[in-house]
Amino acid sequence: MQTRIIDGNAIARDLRVGLIRRVAALAAMGVRPGLAVLQVGDHPASRIYVRNKMKACGEAGLYSEHIELPAEADESTLLGRIRILNQDARIHGILVQLPLPAGFSAERVVEALAPAKDVDGFHPTNVGLLTLGNPRFVPCTPLGVMRLIEREEIDVQGRHAVVVGRSNIVGKPMALLLLQRGATVTICNSRTPDLGAMTSQADILVVAAGRPRLVTARMVKPGAVVIDVGITRLADGKLAGDVDFQSVLGTASCITPVPGGVGPMTIAMLLENTVMSAERTSAGRGSP
Ligand code: NAD
Repeated sequence: MQTRIIDGNAIARDLRVGLIRRVAALAAMGVRPGLAVLQVGDHPASRIYVRNKMKACGEAGLYSEHIELPAEADESTLLGRIRILNQDARIHGILVQLPLPAGFSAERVVEALAPAKDVDGFHPTNVGLLTLGNPRFVPCTPLGVMRLIEREEIDVQGRHAVVVGRSNIVGKPMALLLLQRGATVTICNSRTPDLGAMTSQADILVVAAGRPRLVTARMVKPGAVVIDVGITRLADGKLAGDVDFQSVLGTASCITPVPGGVGPMTIAMLLENTVMSAERTSAGRGSP
């Protein structure tokens, strides 16, 4: 079987062009979508992620603020900054770059965000709305996966989707979105005894475990759609996904590469959530 490689870069680029039009429509009403990114400490990977997000905002015509606090800052300082941003009319989306340094409670910090500006979709109110099937902000990575699936015209309804990983950021919201689209969903985690027995039943397999090359061809059903969310930097500096890409070629019907699959979609979805937030505010539906 010829495996189609899903080009996340091209799809994300397309989506970002569409967003530029929405940003122009908002500009005509005197609104510029604004994103604030709060970073505490100097986690090297976070620095790169934040830089990429700010750059993407600039390219799409969004206003953005990068607020840096030293690792020694206390949680109340961060909470104070969040409260100011919650009230700042220029800001439609607030994101706290995770992980936070030791001593911070990510839970308390996320709960301090105004749910109407929580463009990462991590606030309990937004998690609840997603669970109820009435989402406001959907976490960017699983939302990006759903967009890839739509763009590739992959049928979800009635199919068996297996999600490997149950994090609040990727695995759980991913499973909910697939469920809402009519899939039968299995969620696996590190305690699943025979992972291959589960993954090999999947028509749609989404892997988000953070374990390089965990999934090999023998764990994939012939003709399955394989979405690889994992990104790990190996000792040689190269990036690896959770799927053994080379071995799966010829077995899967289509697959996302790493890099160039899900990664670019995540940033595109962050921009989309921020633009959507500005649209809601301008339509008078943005109160927390
Ligand atoms: P996490 O560590 O919070 O969760 C990993 C999950 O995988 C856990 O639920 C764990 O039980 C499960 N798991 C681990 N080993 C397993 C195994 N052997 N079998 C079955 N399940 C197993 O990680 P996360 O934040 O969900 O991220 C997962 C991966 O996705 C990481 O590589 C991360 O870098 C990547 N990621 C990529 C993007 C992107 O934009 N492409 C965004 C977020 C996360």
